[in-house]
Amino acid sequence: MLLGGVLCLAGWQVWLTLRLLDQDRNLELQRSHERLDQIADLALAQVTGSLGDWELGLHELNAVPPAPALQARFPKGVTFIVVSEKDIATYPEKSLLFSPAPPNPPAEEPGTFDGVDELELRELQYDRAMALLKPLIVRPATRAEALLRLARIEYKARQPEAALDTYAKLTSENALTSSGLPYALLAVSARCRILKELGRTHEAQAEASSLRASLLAGRWPISRESFEYHWATLNSLGLDVGQPPKASVEFSALIAGLFIRWRNAQSLGSNTTGRELQPDGSLLVWNARPDRLSAVVAPPDWLNSAAKFPPGSGDIHWRLLSLDAAKAPGYTVTRSLADVGIPDRLDFSIVAPISGAASSRRTLLLGGAVLMLMVILGAGYVVYSAISRELQVAKLQSDFVAAVSHEFRAPLTTLCTLTELLVQHRIPDESRRQQSYVFLDHETKRLHRLVEDLLDFGRMESGRKQYRTEDHDAFQLVRATVADFIQQAEANGFRVEADLGSPDNSTAATVHVDQEAFCRALRNLLENAMKYSPVCRTVWVNGAVQDHRVLISVRDQGMGIEADERQAVFQKFSRGEAAKKAGIKGTGIGLAMVQQIALAMGGEIRLQSEVGVGSTFTLVLPLATAEEGAAH
Ligand code: ADP
Repeated sequence: MLLGGVLCLAGWQVWLTLRLLDQDRNLELQRSHERLDQIADLALAQVTGSLGDWELGLHELNAVPPAPALQARFPKGVTFIVVSEKDIATYPEKSLLFSPAPPNPPAEEPGTFDGVDELELRELQYDRAMALLKPLIVRPATRAEALLRLARIEYKARQPEAALDTYAKLTSENALTSSGLPYALLAVSARCRILKELGRTHEAQAEASSLRASLLAGRWPISRESFEYHWATLNSLGLDVGQPPKASVEFSALIAGLFIRWRNAQSLGSNTTGRELQPDGSLLVWNARPDRLSAVVAPPDWLNSAAKFPPGSGDIHWRLLSLDAAKAPGYTVTRSLADVGIPDRLDFSIVAPISGAASSRRTLLLGGAVLMLMVILGAGYVVYSAISRELQVAKLQSDFVAAVSHEFRAPLTTLCTLTELLVQHRIPDESRRQQSYVFLDHETKRLHRLVEDLLDFGRMESGRKQYRTEDHDAFQLVRATVADFIQQAEANGFRVEADLGSPDNSTAATVHVDQEAFCRALRNLLENAMKYSPVCRTVWVNGAVQDHRVLISVRDQGMGIEADERQAVFQKFSRGEAAKKAGIKGTGIGLAMVQQIALAMGGEIRLQSEVGVGSTFTLVLPLATAEEGAAH
């Protein structure tokens, strides 16, 4: 019942705490969601504002490098681009791998190389063709084309060294072929091929590396197709040049796209503006007018420059995602960027939705709840143990009352019957009458002792017992008690064997005790030894002096005491289970009284026992001289 009540209380307390924690958590989540919403709105407004500002700045961008004041209006790390009739300029300067507007090829003089073609391609007269080319090499207008053809014919005529030399001369020419390709590019490419075919791999690789460097530096204004063709040719020849850097290819493509936009603006004769996210996350913002196009490319972290979170928002994360990208797990707030011309969205999330203050509040709440729970359980335990102790004492007391009543009733009944017989002269035989008087005397004394014991124990318990202590020879007292007890023992068929050393050695065992109390304690031990020995009919009494103490032990070979009862038997009203089961009468105050007496005399009582083997109770008292010494 009590346990149920305590458990109910504890359960209610746990339930209440959980409810409180849950409510607190929901409140905190709601707060952090509201905060996230506010910050998302703020960030979107800032991004919109920054982009508008950058666009305004673009109107002022006419040439690169821009004026410092204009640069300062854009985030760090942007690339400025200006496309105009004059050129395509970037700041910081970046090389273009391919040009969106390769220069126009020069007009060819028709028929100049007809004779050479006839000799080279139809008649296969290489020497004559080469001779025919010589004067054309001297003429600046035809020099580059003539060198190209000469090198080709020399190679066909199995003069590779001569061809290599001729191509080498051509590499320093700036002219373009009729299809708009630089002669120098064709010459270097051809040298790579010939060197490779000749098995001069090292030289071929060196030549390829130099061509690679020229292509990457944007040395020639070539189309994207030409760039890719010549790059791929090097790889197909087995001259490993890898892949062109992705960033450079993307930047060149971006410029090509811008160029087309500018051309459109020119053809429409109107202005256009736009924003576009690049595959690497950078942002392109442009403004195209018929006379020029100005643009900036902001680095991938442009969002951080476009919006600044208020202080204390370090726990908020945001990401730019395409519209169809999956949402991150957890609570997320989404804002579309469609209004600023970017077909993407911004996702805002909070790292720790429960703030530090809230979690310390939770800890406090939890701590309080645990404390409360401990108090409830502790109080329950205290009440429970107090009640069970009271119940135990009540049971012991009722056992005691029953036992005492029994102790009195049986002898009183006998005494009554016997007295009645004597009064009515119904025992005619003198010897039997005498026996009855002895029995009456014996039983009356026993009852008297029992009453005295009970009264004395009551006094001892309340501290009212007065002891009259004097110096006595402990062994003398033992002998006297044993002698007094022997008659009772023999009547029950018991023998007492005492070993107390020599009777005249009286000084050795002097103790400062109350004689009557001492004898009562010893007699109690002797009676117990007899009472709890169902088979063996001998009780041993030993006396010894050890370390300034007198040890008097009473040993039996009786039923013994269980280990878990060896302490309890010294408590008042407490009786052993085996004794109760065997129906041995007793009140449970004997050993408690022995212990009280031993303690009052400055000593103690010890017990050694084993079930089925027997018990030894030892009364330990300080020698009178030793006690005095200690007192001083
Ligand atoms: P009681 O009136 O029951 O004898 P005591 O206080 O003298 O009360 O003893 C307490 C209990 O100790 C006994 O009920 C018994 O179980 C146990 N006891 C005492 N003396 C002995 C003994 N010599 N041998 C076995 N058990 C003993």
